[in-house]
Amino acid sequence: MSSITACVRFRPLSSGERRDHGDSVCIHCVDSQIFVLKDEKEEEFTFSFDKVFYENSEQAQVYEFLALPIVKDAVDAINGTIITYGQTGAGKTYSMEGPSIMVCDEQKRGLVPRIVDGLFDCIKSSEGTVKHSIKLSMVEIYMEKVRDLFDLSKDNIQIKESKAQGIVLNGVTEISVSDPAEALQTLSSGIANRTVGETQMNMSSSRSHCIYLFTVQQELKKDNRLKTGKLILVDLAGSEKAEKTGAEGKVLEEAKTINKSLSALGNVINALTCGSPGKAYHIPYRDSKLTRLLQDALGGNSRTALLCCCSPSPSNASESLSTLRFGMRAKHI
Ligand code: ADP
Ligand code: MG
Repeated sequence: MSSITACVRFRPLSSGERRDHGDSVCIHCVDSQIFVLKDEKEEEFTFSFDKVFYENSEQAQVYEFLALPIVKDAVDAINGTIITYGQTGAGKTYSMEGPSIMVCDEQKRGLVPRIVDGLFDCIKSSEGTVKHSIKLSMVEIYMEKVRDLFDLSKDNIQIKESKAQGIVLNGVTEISVSDPAEALQTLSSGIANRTVGETQMNMSSSRSHCIYLFTVQQELKKDNRLKTGKLILVDLAGSEKAEKTGAEGKVLEEAKTINKSLSALGNVINALTCGSPGKAYHIPYRDSKLTRLLQDALGGNSRTALLCCCSPSPSNASESLSTLRFGMRAKHI
């Protein structure tokens, strides 16, 4: 049985939001799990999540609550997935990477560099009895194609299912890394290879889903038994409604494709939450590359954490509401 830990993170107001609306926010904090959101029509919605990180939350708190248990499990050969969801500008990449995965304030380091450190720390503590190795892959799903971010010549990787390994990316580049610095160097080369839009640089990474894959393999020294844990981190494309962005042409096509794969994700989550014991529901994993890739994570034997990223500004209340509704459905899996 899978279970999803669903959390919310509100970023601080941006300078633009402050300019337009002053200090006003659309949320009212009740406690670390419950808050109330007020929409444009002053209607109030109460939400309850596994954890709510408010505007002044620290990157370390998010890591410790959401990622650390999954990191520990990955080293014990239990698969894990961490997904950031939300509209463009809501704080998905900030939460995942921080300002940069390579160099930034210790305090601002995102989940990726912390997870890298965490994995190597866990490995060190079991060095005597187990031999570990860590391999990295990185792909982007852009316009329903899986692109290898470590080898751009592989621009249409197929997703396959194998009995032994579950969902696999056929022929994806895997790079072995032996310490945190090497891992971060490798991942940052992948980040540099992401699709860059020609027009709005700030939107560039928002039109594709970015996926980090860590494969932690361990060999028990006494009998050479092999066990593998997979850790998948997903920085999703922006969830905003296509028609609201005023997009045209190629950008509109991109937006529609994103909306389609995110609704496929929503549909899979719905189908999983509707299922009752003894009754087999059809789960539409094959409706998008994203859901196919996350099949094991969502339906299988895996630990999954979802971070719903939101702006606290009244001007983004309706997008925040839709992000939170998505998160609530996932919480019930
Ligand atoms: P997304 O990836 O969801 O499109 P970003 O992570 O790029 O959004 O965040 C948009 C902006 O908000 C960035 O300038 C980022 O630095 C800032 N930001 C996001 N979350 C936080 C946070 N928790 N604390 C401080 N700044 C943040
Ligand atoms: Mg982003």
